[in-house]
Amino acid sequence: MDARLEAVRDTVLARNPGEAEFHQAVVEVFESLGPVHDRHPEFLEAAILERLCEPERQIIFRVPWTDDSGRVQINRGFRVEFNSALGPYKGGLRFHPSVYLGIVKFLGFEQIFKNALTGMPIGGGKGGSDFDPSGRSDAEVMRFCQSFMTELYRHIGEYTDVPAGDIGVGGREIGYLFGQYKRITNRYESGVLTGKGISWGGSLVRPEATGFGTVIFTEEMLKTRGSSFDGQRVVVSGSGNVAINAIAKAQALGAAVVACSDSSGYVVDEAGIDVGLLRQVKEVERGRLKDYVLRRSGVSYVEAGSVWDVDATVALPCATQNELDGGAAARLVRNGLLAVGEGANMPSTREAVAVFQEAGVLFGPGKAANAGGVATSALEMQQNASRDSWSFEHTEQRLTDIMVGIHDRCASTADEYGEPGNYVLGANIGGFVKVADAMLAQGLI
Ligand code: GLU
Repeated sequence: MDARLEAVRDTVLARNPGEAEFHQAVVEVFESLGPVHDRHPEFLEAAILERLCEPERQIIFRVPWTDDSGRVQINRGFRVEFNSALGPYKGGLRFHPSVYLGIVKFLGFEQIFKNALTGMPIGGGKGGSDFDPSGRSDAEVMRFCQSFMTELYRHIGEYTDVPAGDIGVGGREIGYLFGQYKRITNRYESGVLTGKGISWGGSLVRPEATGFGTVIFTEEMLKTRGSSFDGQRVVVSGSGNVAINAIAKAQALGAAVVACSDSSGYVVDEAGIDVGLLRQVKEVERGRLKDYVLRRSGVSYVEAGSVWDVDATVALPCATQNELDGGAAARLVRNGLLAVGEGANMPSTREAVAVFQEAGVLFGPGKAANAGGVATSALEMQQNASRDSWSFEHTEQRLTDIMVGIHDRCASTADEYGEPGNYVLGANIGGFVKVADAMLAQGLI
C-alpha cells in the first residue's frame, strides 16, 4: 500500500479499536486508492480520506420493549450517518444478534461508495439493532419496531436520512417503522423510508432488485469473456430476499442453480432450485431450508456444511459478511469457477478475493454487484417525490440500465488505471472519486 495512505490507515485503525469488519472494509478500499492520490494531490491536502473514514454522525440508543410474556427486553439501536456529499444518508437497517458498531460502520462505509456508483443522488448511512427477529411473533416485532422508531424518527427525514431494509428487515418491519414515524410526526412523508409496500408508496421491483441486480452485473462480467448465464452451473449462498431473487433471475437467464443455504446447512437440488417452493417456505411461512427439503424429492441436505463445497461455474454469495474464506475460494477455483458476483456485503474475505483475482476469476465486489437494491430505493424516492408509480417493466429497465452502467464504469475505471478486469479497483476508485470531488467542492465540513 502507498506510504501516504498507510499513515492515514494506521490512524483510522487506531481510532476505531475492536471494529474488525470496519477495519477490513477500510483497508480494502485504501489498497485501491494509491494511484488516485498520485493524480489528485488535492485530495490528500484536503484530508478527504481522513474525513471520509470519520462518520458525520453516529447515533446509539436504547430500545426497550416488552415480549409476549410481558417481560422487559432491552436492545441497542444504531444509525451511522456516514457521508452526505452526494445526497441524504441512504442505507438499510439490519436486525441481527451480531450487530454492533463495527458492523454498522463497515456497512455504512461500503454504502458510501456503492451509492456513488449508482449515479443516484444518495449519500451513505446504515443502521440496525442487535435484536433477533427469529422466533419472535408479529406482535413482538411490531412493538420492537415502534420502540426503535420512537428514538430514530428525530434523526431521519426525506431530505436528511432515508433508511430501508437489510438482513432481518423486510416489508413487515418497514411497515411497522413507517406507521410509527407517521404517527409521531403526523406527516405522510413517503420518502422517509424505502422498501415500502406497493399500495402505500413502495416501488415495484424493489423486493427483487438486489438479487436481480447482482445477476445482471454478473452477466455483464461474463459477456466480457464471450459468455453468459445460459448453461452455467450456479451455487448461491443464503436463502433470504437477495438469494431467492438472484436464483430466480439466474434461472430466467438459462442457468441451473443447484444449491443454496441457510445458517443451519445447505441443500443440493440437481434439478434446479424450485423458487416457488423456496418463496413459500421462506417468505410466506418464515420457515427454514429444512422445510424445503421435506417437501421436495430428489434433493439432499447437508447439515452444518459449507455450500462452497458444491462445484459451480458461477458463485453468488448472498448471505452475509465473511462467509466465503480463502479455503472455500481455492476449492471453488479447483472445481472450475468462472465468476463470482457478491449479492451480500463483503461476503468474501480478503484472502478469498486474492485467490479469485490470482486465478483470473471474474470477481464483482458487493459494493458494485449488489447496488441494485439501493439504486431501486432511489427510484422509489423519485416516485415518492413526484407522487407517481411506475410499471414493473419501466422500473426493471431502469434497474438494468443502472447495473450495466455500474459495470461499465467499474470496467472503464480499471482500464484507465492500468488494471483491466479488476472490478475491485474499478469500484473503489469510481465510487471514491465521485464522493471526493463533491467533498472538495463543498468545503471543510
Ligand atoms: N441494505 C441494502 C444494501 O446493502 C439496501 C439499502 C437501501 O435500499 O437503502 O445496499
